[in-house]
Amino acid sequence: MQTEAIKRAREYIKEADALLITAGAGMGVDSGLPDFRGSSGFWKAYPAIKDLGYSFVEMANPRWFKNKPALAWAFYGHRLNLYRETKPHKGFDMLLELGGQMRDGYFIFTSNVDGHFQTAGFDKERIYECHGAINHFQCTKNCTKDIWDAKNIQIEVDMEIFKALNFPLCPRCGAVSRPNILMFGDWNWNSSISDYQEMRLGDYLERLRDKESKIVIIEMGAGKAIPTVRMFSENIAEKPNAKLIRINPRDTSIDDRWGVSIELGALEGLRRILE
Ligand SMILES: [Zn+2]
Repeated sequence: MQTEAIKRAREYIKEADALLITAGAGMGVDSGLPDFRGSSGFWKAYPAIKDLGYSFVEMANPRWFKNKPALAWAFYGHRLNLYRETKPHKGFDMLLELGGQMRDGYFIFTSNVDGHFQTAGFDKERIYECHGAINHFQCTKNCTKDIWDAKNIQIEVDMEIFKALNFPLCPRCGAVSRPNILMFGDWNWNSSISDYQEMRLGDYLERLRDKESKIVIIEMGAGKAIPTVRMFSENIAEKPNAKLIRINPRDTSIDDRWGVSIELGALEGLRRILE
């Protein structure tokens, strides 16, 4: 059955004029990033947070930047460092090559905040990061609409006591700064970069529609827990001229009319289809 799915996936790709890459948290697992799924997964990556008794949802809350900035920055500073040190896996290269072969190009829709599509060499004008990016910072008070690049900022975290030894301040007002990521219960996220990226994606899809381009969507590691990415893929897949290849070891359900589901991790799935 999986052989049949691989065969159909290859046909979709062969017939396509354009590639939509949609990625959820599972995409990064093959690069060696921790899987936050469920409290056990999250606490395995952060034993210190287990001792505090907080879930991922509780930890990914902007109030910590106000109440306990050294704790907030221990979590986000560690993630920033981890994403910087981690090399995107080979599947990114395979997708970049495939995107380059498409007559009408590619676009990426990702809920990941690690910036790994940019690191892997994808055109930043063709990426929509729906939850923002960890390598951009903003003011916690949103004193101005500024968002700045974090590339020259180093955060040192003492993992023993789970505290950031330094944390960045807003250059304008001196308040604590924060990553430009959408958190839970977040009213202060500055979405301007993300909004702009979304507009570009909208323009791209409109151009594909006008040209009646055939689209293949390759979705990877997008689970049901936070279904933003899945819903986007399915909305496109419902339309004529589009086919969805869902690659995920779990949550494999798919409407047969939309495409195929391949029960593998991102890298292994891509290898099976593209090599
Ligand atoms: Zn400020």
